Amino acid sequence: MAHQYPINFCPVCAARLERREKHGAMRPVCPSCNYVHFCDPKVAAITLIERNGQVLLARRAMNPAKGRWTLPGGFVECEEDPRETAIRECREELGLEVEITRLMDLYYGKAHEGGASIVILYAGRLEEGTAPEPGDDVDAVAFFGPKELPELAFASTRQILAEWRGPSNAVGTVSGEIGLRDRGGEPKRDPTV
Ligand SMILES: [Zn+2]
Repeated sequence: MAHQYPINFCPVCAARLERREKHGAMRPVCPSCNYVHFCDPKVAAITLIERNGQVLLARRAMNPAKGRWTLPGGFVECEEDPRETAIRECREELGLEVEITRLMDLYYGKAHEGGASIVILYAGRLEEGTAPEPGDDVDAVAFFGPKELPELAFASTRQILAEWRGPSNAVGTVSGEIGLRDRGGEPKRDPTV
């Protein structure tokens, strides 16, 4: 198995690593402290939040895909429960308190360079009274009906929302608008809704 991220020195003791057969593959191994380097996948947790037949999307304020819309989510930290990741990202990116209701699906394959190779999709719902307050990564938050989705950020987002929309969703709904504040605290209406 090829290693995508070459590593030459031991992250524990800084000795030069050697390639050795370990646990069924050639892996970087430290001859000094026996550290074995595994190239683990990046994992992300994202949340699909529905309300009245509409889905909550966030507009990215940064590249990649700046200005396009995506589901809220982010990388799972080491030793973090992915459900906690999903909740934390909604809080950090959108300022929204979310309850995770169920596991929906799991996707394999990078959507973009630097993206996660495993994506865990949860269903969530907004807690009563929570209102968006976007963080640095997001500049708008809105609900969209299945027939009026905005320009989406990644192939993975498109795939997930195509599955969400389903073949039976022939009739669209009117988009919802949630009160949105910029960081100055001034309420503003999202231009796309
Ligand atoms: Zn070492």
